[in-house]
Amino acid sequence: MMRQNKLFNKTRISLALWYAGVMGLILSLLGSGVYKAISHAHWISLDNELESVAGTLHDGLELKLRQPGKIEPIIGELLPNLCLIGTSCISDRFNSQRHILSAVDQGNYYARLYDTSGRLIAIAGDYPEGLPQSLNTEPWQTLNTSSNNIYHQISFSLHTQTREDWGYFQVGRSLQDFEDYLGRVKLILLLGLPTSLIFVAIASWWLAGLAMQPIYRSYQQIEQFTADAAHELRTPLAAMQATVESSLLVDLKQQEAKNILTTIERENKRLIQLVGDLLWLARMDRKTIPLRRQLCCLNDLVDDLVEELESLAIANQITLTSQIKINKPLNVSGDCDQLYRLVYNLIVNAIQYTPSTGQVMVILERDDRYALIKVQDTGIGIAPEHQKKIFDRFYRVHSDRSRSTGGSGLGLAIAKSIAGSHSSQLSVRSELGQGSTFIFQLPLAIALK
Ligand code: ADP
Repeated sequence: MMRQNKLFNKTRISLALWYAGVMGLILSLLGSGVYKAISHAHWISLDNELESVAGTLHDGLELKLRQPGKIEPIIGELLPNLCLIGTSCISDRFNSQRHILSAVDQGNYYARLYDTSGRLIAIAGDYPEGLPQSLNTEPWQTLNTSSNNIYHQISFSLHTQTREDWGYFQVGRSLQDFEDYLGRVKLILLLGLPTSLIFVAIASWWLAGLAMQPIYRSYQQIEQFTADAAHELRTPLAAMQATVESSLLVDLKQQEAKNILTTIERENKRLIQLVGDLLWLARMDRKTIPLRRQLCCLNDLVDDLVEELESLAIANQITLTSQIKINKPLNVSGDCDQLYRLVYNLIVNAIQYTPSTGQVMVILERDDRYALIKVQDTGIGIAPEHQKKIFDRFYRVHSDRSRSTGGSGLGLAIAKSIAGSHSSQLSVRSELGQGSTFIFQLPLAIALK
């Protein structure tokens, strides 16, 4: 048992690990997808902002520029902190005014102006130190300062009022806030992933346990069944072995030998019956027994059974009677032999578990949808806690009593299996010491499985 538990635990662990692994992979892919989508959306909005600021400034500048490469003083109204290269800054007097760059978080933006020969003429805004000075006319550029700050920049060619080439105009923006934001998103995802993986691992362990439960239960049932079957087979085999051993020790007379052989034959018959029942159940489980669909007359079935089991009832001093509560013969479609076997098992049980002078009654009735066969006895009854289990293989309430009557503990399991194959219900109502009623409820329009 220990070894099996180990096996189930190992399987549970590997199932949970696989599940957590797959979920981890999915979550990682999802996380990186979310990160990419966020960074892309942010980048696009950043570009749009830069383009709109630069475009507005560019249009404003072109209206004011008169001579190529020459900065008019009025430009200082458009660009904050305007500084001409090689001279002192001329824009201090405009600082109190509103500029477009100041409207969009001045701290992040800079602007620069080049003449047509590519010489830097002026800078404005929050101009970073260590930015490459040489002119690059690519519309979009990402620049690195010497202190490793990253800037995104847009370039336009600039014209005078009279459409002469003036030079170039560039507006750039620090990517620091963008990097900070993405860093925060990355951190959240990196912390969130292991945290959610812990939850996934716990859920996987629980789910794996849940998935293992039915397998474990059916494994236990098989184990129990094997043990019960071995036990049942051992009893008659041990009895035969003991009989043979003791008879080998003495010289037997003919009559004694006959008696011994009779005992061996009885045990042998029990074995054959048991093995036969087991095989039959196994074949029913695997659905290898073909179900014949025949028209069975339940009136005849009840009459035949009562007649056949009359002698057994008399031998047990039981009154066996039948009560047919319908006027017309009741025909159902099913396997007549199997239905016969089912009701046979119920009546034999009723006789066996009813003390002498008791009564067993077989009742046949019907309602709109069902034919009902009830086997009612005044016997020992079954306590509520046993009522569900008696349909299990080898389950007996009083194993000694059952064995003494020759029962294998499979009669009700077989009956239940037949009922199942006929889409029918087999149930019991019983009170301890008062008697039991087994009710077989067969749909009139049965669909055979
Ligand atoms: P068995 O061969 O032991 O009769 P069954 O599967 O037919 O096996 O029945 C299982 C158990 O159910 C019996 O051992 C007995 O304890 C109980 N049982 C079945 N029918 C009756 C009944 N009519 N009255 C009381 N107990 C019953």
